[in-house]
Amino acid sequence: MKQSQLFPKTRKEAPKDAESVNHKLLVRAGFIDQLMSGSWTLLPLGLRVVAKINQIIREEINAVGGQEMLMPLLHPKEIWSETGRWDKADEIMYKLSDARKKEYVLSFTHEEIVMDLLRKNIKSYQDLPVAVYHFSTKFRNEPRARSGILRGREFMMKDLYSAHTDEKDMVDYYEKVKGAYVKIFDRLGFNFKVVEASGGVFTEKRTHEFQVLNANGEDEIFACDKCDYAVNKEIFEGKEQELCPKCKKGKIEKKEKTVEVGNIFPLGTWYAERMHVYYTDEKGLKKPVWFASYGIGPTRVMGTLVEVSHDDRGIIWNKAVAPFNIHLLELPGGNGKDIYEKLKEKGVDALWDDRDVPPGEKFADADLIGIPVRLVTSERNGDKVEWKERNSEELELLSIDEVLKRLEE
Ligand code: ATP
Ligand code: MG
Repeated sequence: MKQSQLFPKTRKEAPKDAESVNHKLLVRAGFIDQLMSGSWTLLPLGLRVVAKINQIIREEINAVGGQEMLMPLLHPKEIWSETGRWDKADEIMYKLSDARKKEYVLSFTHEEIVMDLLRKNIKSYQDLPVAVYHFSTKFRNEPRARSGILRGREFMMKDLYSAHTDEKDMVDYYEKVKGAYVKIFDRLGFNFKVVEASGGVFTEKRTHEFQVLNANGEDEIFACDKCDYAVNKEIFEGKEQELCPKCKKGKIEKKEKTVEVGNIFPLGTWYAERMHVYYTDEKGLKKPVWFASYGIGPTRVMGTLVEVSHDDRGIIWNKAVAPFNIHLLELPGGNGKDIYEKLKEKGVDALWDDRDVPPGEKFADADLIGIPVRLVTSERNGDKVEWKERNSEELELLSIDEVLKRLEE
């Protein structure tokens, strides 16, 4: 796309109230805009990144049999009263009522809604297992929405829910999804740990969090000094720390700052018992459905990528999620149109800086926006282009064919 048409323009200054790196850089570079505390627009560049993150998640969740659908966000009070969470989760819920005094909540999660779907549709063991998911908005009344897009009061989540005949089937599938999450966060390029945690308003059971190591993170984990085992702060403080339960050699005492990007919950039969979600087994006996849920926050993932990958000039996206493959800068005497068309023909998604602004401004914007490869066409470069990667200082002069070949690799 032509940069002259891209909405909005970049900004030199970060918003005055911006404290975190992701807030400053994503706003300056034109990826997000803040409507009020915790409430963000994904601008065209930001939506491109989130769409790529979502596609990676979608591919890995589909690979473990998840079926994508879309559930509503406005829920009746009654369904949340069935599990008691209308009261128990009062603090994080946005509740509202209409002109006829009927009460609702804006979704902060969807367990109850999936349970309702299951009780209408599951009859026998032959109807199980089921794994369904969606990408949609969550609303949570977060007390401290200060970390830019890492903590929204309205944010995007991929939530997957699975239902099973028994504990073993649930645990086996839970492990499979854990594996899918590892693949997702590897593909996103994170340095992360799978951490034992508690379940908050979701469950009494142990859960697993996916925590990205980052010095500015709000969370704290405690890792084994000999193996990859780790627990979150709540669990660390709640028990006597002896030898690592996994390797039986190391000590769990290495404290690290992290950002939580995913959390999976083996919920068991608690929800089915309260919402009467039963199936008949092979012997004709009525049994409660075993249930688990699995969340990732794609908008938080975008912010976390910026926290872990930037320099003092701007963002450094990796290829997997960059808003464009190429940033083509046209300086006086260059042939931007030709190169742009050739890239387009080969399916390379380029942002073409066709604006009539000084070269210095183009270079600064390219560094700020952070697309992994920058090409410069100019009078000096003739029919070649200058190739520079965002995370390197090396400049190379290449023909267009060489560029196309390199992009195929
Ligand atoms: P936190 O402890 O950071 O408040 P949480 O444990 O309450 O998060 P979960 O209910 O586990 O969050 O939600 C699943 C995922 O959704 C999280 O791992 C995170 O990626 C994302 N997420 C949760 N809360 C927010 C938020 N306020 N803004 C953006 N993403 C969020
Ligand atoms: Mg969590």
